[in-house]
Amino acid sequence: MFWNKPTDPVCKMKLKKVTQFKSEFQNKTYHFCSLNCKQKFDKSPREYAK
Ligand SMILES: [Zn+2]
Repeated sequence: MFWNKPTDPVCKMKLKKVTQFKSEFQNKTYHFCSLNCKQKFDKSPREYAK
């Protein structure tokens, strides 16, 4: 399966595997290392999404 290592847009950490923490914003899926990062993103996605 194609796996394009995502980067957590909040803490900039490269994720080694997909976690349950993800959000969709403007038709893109973002992955996070932790619930903490996901919540930060969900509060102000425009600050983190590119
Ligand atoms: Zn993170």
